[in-house]
Amino acid sequence: MVQNRDIARVFYEIADILDLLGDRFKTRAYRRAARSIEGLSEHLADIAARGALEEIPGVGKAISGKIQEFLKTGKVKALDELRRKVSPGLIEILRIPEVGPRTVQTLHEKLGISTIEELQKALEEHRIRDLPGFGERSEESIRRNLELYLKQRQRRPLSSAYHLAQKLLKILREVPGVEQIEPAGSLRRWRETVGDLDILIASEKPVPIMKAFTEISDVKQVLAHGSTKSSIILSDGMQVDLRVVKPENFGAALQYFTGSKAHNIVLRRIAQKRKWKLSEYSLSDTKDGSVIAQRTEAEIYEALGMSWVPPELREDTGEIEAAQKNQLPKLVELGDIRGDLHVHTKWSDGRDTVEAMAKAAIQRGYEYIVISDHSKRVRIAKGLAEEKLREQIEEIRKIDEALTDIRILSGVEVEILSDGTLDLTDDALAETDVVTASIHFDTRGSEEEMTERFLQAMENKYVDILAHPTGRLVGQRPSYSVNLDKLMEAAKRHGVFLEINSYRFDLSAVEARRARERGLKLAVNSDAHWAMGLEIMKFGVAVARRGWLEAGDVINTLSFTKLRQIFKHIH
Ligand SMILES: [Zn+2]
Ligand SMILES: [Zn+2]
Repeated sequence: MVQNRDIARVFYEIADILDLLGDRFKTRAYRRAARSIEGLSEHLADIAARGALEEIPGVGKAISGKIQEFLKTGKVKALDELRRKVSPGLIEILRIPEVGPRTVQTLHEKLGISTIEELQKALEEHRIRDLPGFGERSEESIRRNLELYLKQRQRRPLSSAYHLAQKLLKILREVPGVEQIEPAGSLRRWRETVGDLDILIASEKPVPIMKAFTEISDVKQVLAHGSTKSSIILSDGMQVDLRVVKPENFGAALQYFTGSKAHNIVLRRIAQKRKWKLSEYSLSDTKDGSVIAQRTEAEIYEALGMSWVPPELREDTGEIEAAQKNQLPKLVELGDIRGDLHVHTKWSDGRDTVEAMAKAAIQRGYEYIVISDHSKRVRIAKGLAEEKLREQIEEIRKIDEALTDIRILSGVEVEILSDGTLDLTDDALAETDVVTASIHFDTRGSEEEMTERFLQAMENKYVDILAHPTGRLVGQRPSYSVNLDKLMEAAKRHGVFLEINSYRFDLSAVEARRARERGLKLAVNSDAHWAMGLEIMKFGVAVARRGWLEAGDVINTLSFTKLRQIFKHIH
C-alpha cells in the first residue's frame, strides 16, 4: 500500500530540485502540497477513489495528476526528468538543515563541491570561510548542521526498526544452538528512532548462527562475517550487527551493548571506585581479574550496589541515583492498560467499523474503548458535524448494548479552531461520553497564540483530554510552538488529561516525565485508524516508561468504574 509519506517525499524532492534550478514559485507550491499530504490522516488512495484529491490544500490539477500517476505506477516521471538535470550529491547537500539552494550553488560553482564527502573535505580544510558572503561563523554552522544531518540520516522510527528486529529474531531463534537472544542498543531502550540494529545471542556454537545470519534472504551486503561479530546491510539500507557471546558472559554483554553511552560511563566509574572493571565480558576485579558478576544484568547491577535498571531508563537522567536508593519507579506495563481512549472508525477517516474496533479491543483484553472520530473542520478526514455525531452516538449505544464484553464509549476528537473555540456545540459535546480536543489546522501561530488557543479550549467544561498537544510527528514534523508548562498548569486546574499518542510520540518521554513531576495524569492512546492499529499501544507505553510513569500515572489503567469518576460526563 502506498503511504502518504512516500508521495510527500516525492514532492519534497521535486521542490528541492526546482529550488536548485531557481524556480522559486513552483518550489513553494510543491513544498506546500508535500506538507499537507503529510498532515492527512486519510490514505491518498482513498481520497483519490472519492475523487477528492483537489480538495487537499495546495493540491491543484498538476499535482493531483502526479499523485494519481504515483498511485498507479509507483513513480512520477517528472521527478526522474528533474533528477537528470542535477547531480544527486547536490540534492543531498540541500537536505542538510539550514543549507539552502543559494549556498549549494555557491559551494558548487566556487569550490566544485557536488557531494557530501567533498563538502566534508572542504570543511576540514577550512575552504568555506573564505568564500564571499561566508566567514568562520557560517562555516561552523554548516559543519554543525552536516553532523546533525549525518547522524539523523541513518536513523529510522522505532516502529519500523521494531518490526524488522522481530522478523530477524524469529529467524535467528530457530537456529540450533541459540540459548538466549535479545535486541540491544537503542531498540532495547525503546528510543524514538533507531540507527543500527544490535542483536545479541548467547551460544556455545557461533558458526552456524553467523552463517544463518549472513545468509538471510534480505541481505544486500555482508560487511563482516566473524565468529563473534557479523554485520550485514539489509536491502532497505538498515545495518544489523550480531554478536554471539558465551552464555556465561551474556548479562555483561547485554548490559554493555544496551547502553546508553552516558549510563554506562557512570556505571564504569562506580566500578572503578571499587577497583573493579566493567566490560562487555564481565564485572571483574582489576587486580587479579577474578569475575564478580557476568551471567545476568541483575547480578551486575546488584554487585554495583543498585537495583536492576529497566533499559528504558538508562539515559543517565537520575536513574542510577534512584537505583542506588532502591527508589526506581515501578514502570507502567502494556498489561496494565485496560482500554484505549482515542480511536477512529469509518465514521471519519478510519478504515474499520465501530463494531470491528470494539471487537479488536476485546481481543486485546480491554475493558473499554472510546470511539473518537474527527469533527467537521477536519474535512479531509470526513469530520462529523453535530447531526452526524448524534447518529454515530446512537449506533455506538446500540453496539455497546449488544457486545457485553466491553464498554464502548462515544467520544469525539473535536478540533480547536484558530480562535480557541471548539468545532462542535456544547450541546453536541454533552451527548458524548468523552471529549478529546486537538489541533490539526492553522498550526503556524506564535507560541502565545497557540498556547492561548489550547488554554481557551480547556476552559470548555466538556473537554477531558488534549490529544497530541505539541503536534509533533516523530521524524516527520516538528512540534508547533506552544508553551507546554502553561498547558500542564491549566490541565491540572481544569481536570484535563494530556495524551501520549502512540503513533506520533507526542508527548515525548521527556515531556511526559515533566507532566508526571507536576502531578498530572496522562492518557496513553493508540489513535488507531484501523483495528490492527490498536497494536501500537506498546510504543505509547514505551514513551510512558521512558518518562518514568507508573501505572497510577496513566488513566487508562483504571477500571471502568474508576475511569467513570475522573471523566466529566460519561453517561
Ligand atoms: Zn488527531
Ligand atoms: Zn485522532
